[in-house]
Amino acid sequence: MVASMPSLRMTDASSIDLPEGEPVGSVLPSEAIAARVDGVVRDLSFVPPADAAVEPLEASSNDGLQVLRHSTAHVMAQAVCRLYPGAKYAIGPAIHDGFYYDFELPDPISSDDLSRIEDEMRTIVEADQPFVREELSRAEALDRLEGQDYKREIIDTLGEEEGEVVAGDTVRLYRNDGWADLCLGPHVPSTGRLGVFKLLSVAGAYWRGDEKRPQLTRIYGTAWATRDDLDAHLAKLEELERRDHRKLGKDLELFHLDPTAPGMPYWLPRGLKVLNELLTFWRIEHEARGYQEISAPLVNEKALWETSGHWEHFKDDMFVIPEDERTTYGLKPMNCPNAMVVFNIKSRSYRELPLRLSDCDTLHRNERSGTLHGLFRVRKFVQDDAHIFISDDQIEDEFDQILELTDRFYGVFGLPYQLRLSTRPDHYLGDLETWELAEATLRGILDRRKGIGGYAVEEGGGAFYGPKIDIDMQDVLGRDWQMGTIQLDFQLPRRFHCTYAAADGERRTPVVVHRVIYGSMERFIGILIEHLAGAFPLWLSPEQVRFVPVADRHVAHCETLAARAREAGLRSFIDDSKESVGKKIRAAQLMKAPYTLVVGDRDTEAGTYTVRDREGSETSGLEFDGVIAALAAEVSERRLEQTRFG
Ligand SMILES: [Zn+2]
Ligand SMILES: [Zn+2]
Repeated sequence: MVASMPSLRMTDASSIDLPEGEPVGSVLPSEAIAARVDGVVRDLSFVPPADAAVEPLEASSNDGLQVLRHSTAHVMAQAVCRLYPGAKYAIGPAIHDGFYYDFELPDPISSDDLSRIEDEMRTIVEADQPFVREELSRAEALDRLEGQDYKREIIDTLGEEEGEVVAGDTVRLYRNDGWADLCLGPHVPSTGRLGVFKLLSVAGAYWRGDEKRPQLTRIYGTAWATRDDLDAHLAKLEELERRDHRKLGKDLELFHLDPTAPGMPYWLPRGLKVLNELLTFWRIEHEARGYQEISAPLVNEKALWETSGHWEHFKDDMFVIPEDERTTYGLKPMNCPNAMVVFNIKSRSYRELPLRLSDCDTLHRNERSGTLHGLFRVRKFVQDDAHIFISDDQIEDEFDQILELTDRFYGVFGLPYQLRLSTRPDHYLGDLETWELAEATLRGILDRRKGIGGYAVEEGGGAFYGPKIDIDMQDVLGRDWQMGTIQLDFQLPRRFHCTYAAADGERRTPVVVHRVIYGSMERFIGILIEHLAGAFPLWLSPEQVRFVPVADRHVAHCETLAARAREAGLRSFIDDSKESVGKKIRAAQLMKAPYTLVVGDRDTEAGTYTVRDREGSETSGLEFDGVIAALAAEVSERRLEQTRFG
C-alpha cells in the first residue's frame, strides 16, 4: 500500500508534501514557533491527518505572541513549584500584553521575590525542555496531579465549563521535564524557544473569581519576541504608571477613595473644581441647544423599575433598601425611568417635541468589589445624561444635532474619536420595519457626516430596544476607550405609556434617545488625567495662577495681585510657606500649576512681573493687567495651548 502524503497548502500559495506521520513543524521555517492549520493554532508537533492549509506563526505575530506568553506562564509556574515546594497552581492564561498565573503558596511572596523566580525560569529555558503533549484518561490525570486541588477540581468539572480540555474521557496534559499542566495548548516546541520575559507584579485573586473561594496569589508577567519589543513595552508601562490617575489623583489632591465607601469617590476641593467646570461647560452648551435640565429623586420605590423592566434584569447591580414588608426602595442606577415620569406629568403635544431633558444626578451601581478601579470603575457616578423625546420623523435631525455636539465636546479637549454604529441584535423587541428604518436613518447620517466607511459598524451589537451609535476615543498612549453612547429606544416610552398629541390629533408614542457624550464624569476625568498627565487646560485647572513671594515682606503685595486675578475670574493661590523659592517653584511644577509668578523686590518696585508657564519657560517685564487679560481670554476660549507671552 502506498502511504498517503498530506499536501500542505502554504500561505505563499506553494504546496509541500508532508511524509505521513511527520509533524507539521518538520517542513516549516525555523523561525516558526507554532502553526495555523486549517484556521486552528497548533503545536509544531501536530501531525495533520489530511491535506491542510498551513501558515507558520512567528513569535512576533499576534497569535505567535499568545503562544509565547502562555508558554512563558507554564515555565513561570514550573519555576514557582520548584522554588516553593507545596505550591498549588490554578490557571495561567495569556492576556493582553502578557500573562499571569494563579497560585496557592505555602508562604506569602512579594514583588521582591520576582527576580528569584525569573532566575529559575532562565534555568528552565537554558535546559531547553520540550513541551510534550499527553492524552490521559480522567483517572490517570487525577493521579498525575495528586495534591493539585485546583487542577483536580478543573478535571472533575470538565465538560461543565466552556473551553473544556476533554474529548470524551480524555484529558490533555502538557509536560516539560517532570512538571505537567492540564492544558489545551498550543505551546512553543521547547522552553529554549521562549522569547524575552519579565515578571511585573504580585496581586491577590479569588479562585474562579469567586469571593467565597480561596484567595490565590497572582503573578503577572510579560513576554515578547525581541528585547527591543520588551524594552518598548516596559517604557510604556512606566509612562502608564507616571500617568496613573489614582496616583495623580492623590498627588494633585483631586479625589479620595475611602475604605468606608469603596468605589464611591470623594471629590476634594481641587477635583470638584474640575468636575464643576466640566458641568458648567456642559450646561452652557446644552442650554444653547434647547435642553432643559431636570433633577429627580435618587431613592425610588421599586415599582418604578418594575415598570421600566430594570428590576427584573438589573436588581442585583442596585443598592436596595428594604423599608418594610410592603415597600422596597432602591438607589437609582440610571436616569431613564425618572425622565419618563417627567414626560408624563402633563399631556404632551407634538409642538413640544423634541423635548430634551438633560440630567446630571448622582447614580449608584453595586459593582462587585473586585472590579472596582480608581475612577474607571466606580459605584457612585454622574453621567452627562439626556433623554430626548421625538417623533419618528425627527430621528435624523436630532442625531445630527447630537453628533454636532459630540464634535464640539471632543474638539475642546482635542480628543480624536471614532463613531461606531451597532445594529439589530438577534433578540430584539419591536417590529422589524421600525428597526430597519431607524438603522437606515442612522447610516445615512453617518455616511453624510463621516463619509462612507468613515465609521465602524458592529452588526448585531445594538441594544434589544434599538440601534445605537457609540463614541470610541483613543488617548495619547494609544489606548481605546468607549466613551459616550447615543441610543434609540422604541420600548421604554411604551412601558411608561408615554404619548403625545400628534398634528392630526391622534395620540402617538414618542421615540426616546438616551445619550451620554462624556459617559460617566468620573471615568471621563480619570481618562483625562491620564491623557493629560494631570496637566489640565487652564479653564479646567484647579488653580490657574500661583504667586510665589520671595520673602515674607512680599506676601502682602501677592495678596493684592491675587485679589485682582480673582476679580478677573482666575483661581489664584499664594504659596506663603517658609520654603525656599526653588522649592516653591518645584512644588508649583508638581501640582501642575499652569502659571507661576515669583514676586520679589525688583518686581514690586518696577511693577512688572515674570511669568513662568508649565513647561518652565519664563517671560519677564510683563504688566500685570496684560497677563490677567491674556489668561482670562485663555479660560473663556477654553484653549488647550498655553499662552505665549513676549
Ligand atoms: Zn498551556
Ligand atoms: Zn437613559
